[in-house]
Amino acid sequence: MKKVIGLAFIFLAMTANAQKPKDKVVLVIHGGAGTILKENMSPEKEKAYRLALQEALQNGYKVIKNGGESEDAVIEAIKVMENSPFFNAGKGAVFTHEGKNEMDASIMKGKTMQAGAVAGVTTIKNPILAAKAVMNNSAHVMMAGMGAEEFAKKQGLEIVDPSYFKTEDRWNSLQKVLEKDKEKMELDHDAKTQAYVPFNFVDEKFGTVGAVALDVKGNITAGTSTGGMTNKRYGRVGDSPIIGAGTYANNEVGVSCTGWGEYFIKAIAAYDVAALMKYKQVSSQEAGKEVIKKIGEMGGDGGMIVLDKNGQASFPFNTAGMYRGSITQSGKIFIEIYQ
Ligand code: ASP
Repeated sequence: MKKVIGLAFIFLAMTANAQKPKDKVVLVIHGGAGTILKENMSPEKEKAYRLALQEALQNGYKVIKNGGESEDAVIEAIKVMENSPFFNAGKGAVFTHEGKNEMDASIMKGKTMQAGAVAGVTTIKNPILAAKAVMNNSAHVMMAGMGAEEFAKKQGLEIVDPSYFKTEDRWNSLQKVLEKDKEKMELDHDAKTQAYVPFNFVDEKFGTVGAVALDVKGNITAGTSTGGMTNKRYGRVGDSPIIGAGTYANNEVGVSCTGWGEYFIKAIAAYDVAALMKYKQVSSQEAGKEVIKKIGEMGGDGGMIVLDKNGQASFPFNTAGMYRGSITQSGKIFIEIYQ
């Protein structure tokens, strides 16, 4: 009798499982990692951030739900955040030392391993669209500066005056860092070499945006877009447009990073997640955690979003906060900001 009850129990458990397939995550996004503390955030500001993240998730989700491609879902989600002044991408991008907005973006499709990126662009309204155009309509993977802008124009993308990207908040952040810079110039003067450690660009918060989507065909795409880091100089390019560093996708996993780009480049952060999964046979969650731990040990900070082919999402970061969210197959939304 006991045996029969036991078998019936196992059967019931199995059918319950069969009836309830896992509600896979189909889209994950981030709006940057950094010193994002609840005590510095007004309820209104937090609400506005959450609304923007929600809109990005919903716009991307619509694509997936209608059977569209992960590539388009990533584009739709990132466009919302590029058009919002809250994030450090598109409108709202941070300023360079010279007071300009120079943006980077990249995208990679897991199915074909095609990739596209732009760096240091100043007039393309949505840099992620330019990255997509490089991927789909050129023989190259990365275009920079004026060349990238000329290509975007020829591709019929919207071109705006550089003043479009300016926001008061970002301008004030630059002024604050420039003040600190002045102090630092004196502090860091090296008497032996007569050289100055030239600048301070550790931002109070980052704010890059990114998305990874998994479509009904099981194809994964990842994308990232940023204004870089406040007070950057000399045509500095971060990790965001570098395939393997800021963005990576094969059809096992997709990754988009945010944080102190120099460290993410040296760690080849996004690719390292895929490599750890393949060579060490660890889960996507463990792989992401390990890479962020390594970046911390190197002295860097930031975070990443990771989504694998099973719809398993994770959001490892080593900063006070990271704007992040996900949406499942059935439309369930998760949004979080702090640790
Ligand atoms: N990773 C970006 C960069 O270094 C910055 C960020 O994520 O906010 O350009």
